[in-house]
This record gives sequence, C-alpha cells and structure tokens, in this order.
Amino acid sequence: MNEKDNLISNVNFIIFEESDNMVKTYVFGHKSPDSDSITSSLVMTNLERELGNDEAQAFRLGNINKETEFILNYLGIEAPELLESVEDDANVILVDHNSPAESVDNLENAKILKVVDHHKLALETSYPLFLRFEPVGCTETILCKLYEENGVEISKEIATLMLSAIISDTLLLKSPTTTDDDKAAIEKLSKIAEIDAEEYGLEMLKAGTDLSSFTIEEILALDAKQIDFKDVKSIVNQVNTADISDVMAMKDDLEEGINKIIEDEDLDLFMLLITDIVNSNSQVIALGKDASLVEKAYGVTLEDNTVLLEGVVSRKKQVVPIMTENA
Ligand code: MN
Ligand code: MN
Repeated sequence: MNEKDNLISNVNFIIFEESDNMVKTYVFGHKSPDSDSITSSLVMTNLERELGNDEAQAFRLGNINKETEFILNYLGIEAPELLESVEDDANVILVDHNSPAESVDNLENAKILKVVDHHKLALETSYPLFLRFEPVGCTETILCKLYEENGVEISKEIATLMLSAIISDTLLLKSPTTTDDDKAAIEKLSKIAEIDAEEYGLEMLKAGTDLSSFTIEEILALDAKQIDFKDVKSIVNQVNTADISDVMAMKDDLEEGINKIIEDEDLDLFMLLITDIVNSNSQVIALGKDASLVEKAYGVTLEDNTVLLEGVVSRKKQVVPIMTENA
C-alpha cells in the first residue's frame, strides 16, 4: 500500500467513526416545557427520521403541563423521555429555544447540529450549524414549512401536534406575536387534522389553565423564564387562566413562594403574569428590589405588588422589549 492509499483509508476510518448517524441525536425544546417545546421535539424528530437520521430521539427538559397533557391524551401518545443533561460531544437539535440558559445542562460541551426557533438569537458557537429562525408565532409554523420544503408528508397526527402548538403559542391567533404564516398554517393543518381549530383550541387552552394538581412551587416553575433586563436579573413566569380571580385567590401563597425564589436565586425581580386567555389581559404580581421597573415600563402603579396590564398577553413581544428598554 502506498502512502496515498494509506492516507485515504485513514480518512475513511475517521469519517466512519465520526458519522453523525452512528450516535443518538437528542431533540428537545426548552426547560419548563410548553406545548410548542414538546410537540416540536416530536415533530422535528419525525422529520429527521423521514430524512434519514434514524438516531433522532425526542426528549423533554421538564414536566409536561396540563395543556400538553391534553394534546398527548387526545392523540393517545406518550410524552418524550425526560433528559437531565447530555454527555460531552452529544449530538443535539434545539427546537423552540436557543438560549443556553433555557437549555440542557452541559450544552456548551455538546455538538449542536440544528436549531429551529422563533426566539431571538442568543447562541454563539465555534462551529457552523443549521439554523432556521423566523419571527413567527410558533416553532411549529416553521416546521410546517420545513416539511413542505423537504417534501415530507404531514400525517394527521403530526398536523394535530403542529396545530395544537400554534394555537397555544398564539392564544388562538389572538396574541400580537401572530403572523399571516401562523394563520395560513392553522388553516392548512386543521384540514389535515380534521379539527375545528376554534372549538378544539378553546378546550385545549382551558385544559391548560387547570392548576388544581400543582403545588405553589410547581405553579411558579410551570412556564418560568430567566431573563435579564440589562442588569436586572429576573424571572418572568406566565400562567394562563380563564378567570384571573381564581389565581389571585392564591396571592399570599404565591408571594411567599416568589420571595423564596428571589432569595434562593438572588434575583432583582420576579414577574408573575396571570394571563386571561378569554379577555387578553394579564394581572402581574411583581416582587423584588426592582419591582418598580414594571411601574416605569408600563406607566402603572403597583398596589399590593400587583396591577392589571391591559392587553398584555405576550411575554416575548409585550414584556421583554419594554422592560429591557426601561431597565
Ligand atoms: Mn416555548
Ligand atoms: Mn414557541
């Protein structure tokens, strides 16, 4: 064997060993998973497999919420497996998030193959990767396009998963995050799924507001996102309800729980948004030494640590930019 052949066989050997298809690909959404994170991990995994990555597997980074439970029960499918952390050099695909703070532990040592997301870019890597970001209302709206672009058929089950998440993220197309692409996706998917989006959607959203089986600690972690408004270290948690007073009945216990989190996590601010999905308003409970930032940002006065923010339903569009601007 001459030197050249030797070199080529070595190269082949290395390619074989490092082939991405030889090891598992972890597909997951963010911590405190919502319906978009869970369904997108399933839908993306299915797309990967259809495209030949047989090692793709969906995971979740936390407990399933009531709304997601409703969706999975409707379809009679299991939730993805819980993932605590990934090994060094693990292949991962991120959906519905890209911020390392919201992702799996040890992400910095993993190899991110792809990201499909509709949040702002918060990721930096030292290597190239597949990125698909669009400023639409839901990751599933992007995935719906990816199926089309790749000529992969959307089954009734996949359509139901996609449709459910779009309804969830856009609050039945009422949130200001809603785009024409989301509307078009709902129209297309409801036909495939043979679902009346309005009727199914309201039932699904209402299922998500049932807090009866959760402890205060669980409620405060359900949809909590760590967000820094410039130097103001904050957590913004959002809880959907069909009746704000149901949740406000727990205000004292919620405040006690929030104050404990502020102390444990050394936070400057904790905002709990109690979002009325029927009337599209949010009651906010704001605690922490920088709670007055809420007053400044919205031109309101907190009374007893709380105030109604009229028309505010989107953390991403109506909280993060305004709070950051005023911090
Ligand atoms: Mn999400
Ligand atoms: Mn989403």
